[in-house]
Amino acid sequence: MNVRKCRRLVVVLGDQLDEFSSALDDFDPARDMVWMAEVKEESTHVWSSKVRTVLFLSAMRHFRDVLRAKDGWSVDYVALDSPQNTHSLGTELARVLERCRPAEVVMTPPGDWRVEQALRQVVDAAGSTLALRDDTHFYCTKDRFAAHAKGRKQLRLEFFYREMRREFGILVDGEGNPEGGQWNFDTSNRGTFNRHGPGQVPPPMRFEPDKITLEVMALAEHEFADHPGDLAHFDWPVTRAGALKALADFCQHRLQEFGRYQDAMWTGEPWLFHSRLSAVMNLKLLSPREVVAAAIECHRNGTAPLAAVEGFVRQILGWREYVRGIYGQEMPGYLERNAMEARQSLPKFYWDGQCEMNCLRDAIGQTLKHGYAHHIQRLMVTGLYGLLLGVDPRQMHEWYLAVYVDAVEWVELPNTLGMSQYADGGLMASKPYIASGKYIQRMSNACAGCRFDPGQATGDDACPFTTLYWHYLDRHQAVLKSNHRMGMQLKNLSRLSASRRTEIGEQAQRIFDGNGQPPRGDQGEMQLL
Ligand code: FAD
Ligand code: SF4
Repeated sequence: MNVRKCRRLVVVLGDQLDEFSSALDDFDPARDMVWMAEVKEESTHVWSSKVRTVLFLSAMRHFRDVLRAKDGWSVDYVALDSPQNTHSLGTELARVLERCRPAEVVMTPPGDWRVEQALRQVVDAAGSTLALRDDTHFYCTKDRFAAHAKGRKQLRLEFFYREMRREFGILVDGEGNPEGGQWNFDTSNRGTFNRHGPGQVPPPMRFEPDKITLEVMALAEHEFADHPGDLAHFDWPVTRAGALKALADFCQHRLQEFGRYQDAMWTGEPWLFHSRLSAVMNLKLLSPREVVAAAIECHRNGTAPLAAVEGFVRQILGWREYVRGIYGQEMPGYLERNAMEARQSLPKFYWDGQCEMNCLRDAIGQTLKHGYAHHIQRLMVTGLYGLLLGVDPRQMHEWYLAVYVDAVEWVELPNTLGMSQYADGGLMASKPYIASGKYIQRMSNACAGCRFDPGQATGDDACPFTTLYWHYLDRHQAVLKSNHRMGMQLKNLSRLSASRRTEIGEQAQRIFDGNGQPPRGDQGEMQLL
């Protein structure tokens, strides 16, 4: 291990893997040193999936080798299996500061508020200075987001997104009007498959584990043996070269249909027309600018329609930047929010997929197998069930942070706590994303293979989503009444008789008592709502 003194210590975290990062701008190999560390704390502060851990560690080791190949560059790298490793980023940083005594510690801000606080304290205690440089991997800075948010009673993606489109000249004409005459093509982006399903979807490019990834897989199996996740199918890109190939593969084979089917689901088809690029973007192996530029180029050269390209750009220039702005603005208090006072424990089956609900079993199963589920599965299957059941949002957050390869708190937390669980009381979403099992029936084939019936709210075959949907409206109607976007749903609720609501309440109670598992056996006659 390198023990020389240095002028600057450049800290590179596991999601900061870009050799052109601002933290490395004026790196002087003669006087500066890079520091990276693998610590168990980052896989145990939430019970991280082995798939997520392997992605991070493998990408870090590949990046370490990229830096070490540069002329004269010195990288102090603490491996997970190093005997001296104390397994906390804070104490590891303290150890290197003690050895190298840099005048300055340089980095771009961590994507996790907890980590930033911990590192700040260590640098202060060591009498050094922490220089946090602007993170140029995003379109919108913290100050720019604050300017957008200032004076607004409510934040809404659509306004922010339009500002970003104009500001960065993306899919707008010379006068700042949207290309194609409309800002979004949402209505053409809600397609579902017919009963034959999606047909032959071009499978995404696979990245077979190389020597480094195999080493890390063995390490993860050893160190985190009881953690969730299955490494047998690991095929994620872990280098910049791999990330660029994955981007080209998506643009060539799946972007064309991305828009139309972005909300559709089909059991046994984890990827459909999605890009699988969130993980490499979040690790900074790819920049959102190059992803957006590649998609727009497909529109310019006629290989993808505007509706698909705009739908894709909106996810990155819109949602991704928007959630980051909210995280930067609302932390640390955001983590504690629980506007709907949800207290139920996370059902045990979220960790093993062992449940009778076909949609949940499929979404959780692929999550554990690949560390991946697409947006609508996260929002309208696993997220929806947690919301309707009233699971403590903190527990939902910890699950999402643990199981997905792209999970970093800045992007995961607002999506989970705000968008999916409505725990911020409407800061992020204009209403709770609630639906009965009929939504899942419309958007997927899951109900056809399920023992439950999405049209039933009570009885042996009642779909737990449907039972809990009506019960959610019923138990929260006092709060929801003030939200005009909930009018139609509450009106439908008011059509149910008092006795019907009682029956639904009793059925819901049996689901609560089973901690999310629906009751088995004869519960009385089936009824249509
Ligand atoms: P695609 O469907 O191909 O979309 C393209 C890109 O758009 C994604 O790669 C991603 O970078 C971006 N994007 C799309 N939707 C969002 C969004 N809502 N917020 C931010 N970026 C978005 N995304 C993460 O990157 N990390 C997370 O930890 C994460 N947790 C989530 C938790 C919940 C409860 C929900 C509802 C969503 C979460 N998302 C998260 C957003 C989204 O589900 C994933 O970005 C997406 O599924 C990744 O798959 P993909 O790359 O194939 O995306
Ligand atoms: Fe899911 Fe209900 Fe459909 Fe079964 S019937 S797949 S539980 S929505």
